[in-house]
Amino acid sequence: MDEYDLLVVGSANADLVTAVTRRPGAGETVLGSDLAVHPGGKGANQAVAAARLGARTALLARVGDDAYGRLLLDAQESAGVDTAGVLVGGAPTGVALITVDPSGDNSIVVAPGANARLTPADVRAARGLFEAARVVSLQLEIPLETVAEAAGALAPGARLVLNPSPPAPLPPEVLEACDPLIVNEHEARVVLEGAGARVPDAPEEWARGLLALGPRSVVVTLGAEGALVATAEGGERVPSVKVDAVDTTGAGDAFTAALAWRLGVGDDLVTAARYAVRVGALAVTRAGAQASYPTGAEVAGLGG
Ligand code: ATP
Repeated sequence: MDEYDLLVVGSANADLVTAVTRRPGAGETVLGSDLAVHPGGKGANQAVAAARLGARTALLARVGDDAYGRLLLDAQESAGVDTAGVLVGGAPTGVALITVDPSGDNSIVVAPGANARLTPADVRAARGLFEAARVVSLQLEIPLETVAEAAGALAPGARLVLNPSPPAPLPPEVLEACDPLIVNEHEARVVLEGAGARVPDAPEEWARGLLALGPRSVVVTLGAEGALVATAEGGERVPSVKVDAVDTTGAGDAFTAALAWRLGVGDDLVTAARYAVRVGALAVTRAGAQASYPTGAEVAGLGG
């Protein structure tokens, strides 16, 4: 028991990025810059972020038996993630095809590939990982029935952290297992609408509305404003640290991983959120997702 502070169950994608002067319209071909290939996917990002901070981290995911799968496994292993739970084969590795124009706007096509083949049976076969984890972190880039199976597979006393991204309505039994549910504004709206609830205007009200759907706690991320932490006892704003933001890609994954890890080592929710906003702030000061994630020493050295 307790071999891992954090088990991340989720996606792993290769991000294929090219810069274009203009994104193509229907039937059009445009030339892009040299291709850059980065390890990504929300599950893989979270696992790398947590391990780099010092968390004992395992990843349950599926990649293809191909070069992108090996790239993703290498990135996990160099960060110190236990990859015994990463399944290989069944479909090509998931890929995100990303074009970025000079204004920074992008168009993204995701080919989920192996991520779509991570099944409830894969979760059941990984019982040993669940038994050894204090906290399990889930996102929605794998099939919803796999998410639901994982939410029901926690060891006694273990805690579930879930970020519904890309946003989708959640079944009641998944919502009730979350402690916390972590959402940005858009995700809050989609989950509330999906449950047939009213969608109010302010973060405090989203949190109240979401709590009424069953989670024991809710965290709303607010970009440069930091985050809001809410339980049945009330809410508290956790301000961000002021930084010069360069690239916010993957900041939400870094925040979630940091919060989940700190909960796993015994912090209360507000203390964990204070740590997570520092991790999120450092992640936006550097380009990329996994490449931008700080070490525990860097977080300790951050003022403010
Ligand atoms: P993502 O772009 O990864 O999907 P998100 O929308 O899920 O992100 P955000 O609220 O943008 O989540 O960012 C997550 C956390 O990262 C915030 O709660 C905050 O702590 C930190 N953060 C994001 N942007 C900034 C910023 N400009 N300055 C300081 N901290 C930031």
